[in-house]
Amino acid sequence: MKQENIWKPDRNYYFGNKSQYYGQSIAVLMFNDHRYLRILFETIVSKALRLSFRESFKKDLSEFFKLSKKIENKSELHKNLEFYLYQGEEIHEKKSKIICPHCNEREAKYFPLVNYLSHGFSLNPEFVFCDNKECRKRARFCARENIAERCFKFSIFEITSKYLDADYYNKHRKDVIDLFKKVFSIPVINDQFAFDFFSK
Ligand SMILES: [Zn+2]
Repeated sequence: MKQENIWKPDRNYYFGNKSQYYGQSIAVLMFNDHRYLRILFETIVSKALRLSFRESFKKDLSEFFKLSKKIENKSELHKNLEFYLYQGEEIHEKKSKIICPHCNEREAKYFPLVNYLSHGFSLNPEFVFCDNKECRKRARFCARENIAERCFKFSIFEITSKYLDADYYNKHRKDVIDLFKKVFSIPVINDQFAFDFFSK
């Protein structure tokens, strides 16, 4: 999708006192509770378009972006959610700073997701790799497991969350944050940093 004509926030959006995240910014919550923001966004779009539960349940985030575009007169919350969640899926294209350790040349774009049968998925930030075929092969060899490939998108916070318990999810979340810190050279996640990260 093209970046032009995208509405951009000029300041952080903070949740009001009706939210469980009173006083917290959407920008920081992208790191801390992506699922909450996604569900809120999908609910707002579903309500505006009067989708049934069955209709909306089958759709993924990318389909909700398309639907959301059709809606006029969006609330501030809706516009902000749409902006941040969309950036979270695209940010790897503009902010990734990590070099592929296999060729030491090209920008790494992917990481292997290792499938441990008993534990669900596990990230493996050691073995990031680039578009090159040889590097991909080497990454697979290093990981020595069945791997799926993923690029650095914020929806990877949710890869495992549906099936696993809270402890596992928290560990997964920490792994993703560690990975993102490395990939995007993130010093510390606070309101100002997170706002700049997504909007500049
Ligand atoms: Zn490479």
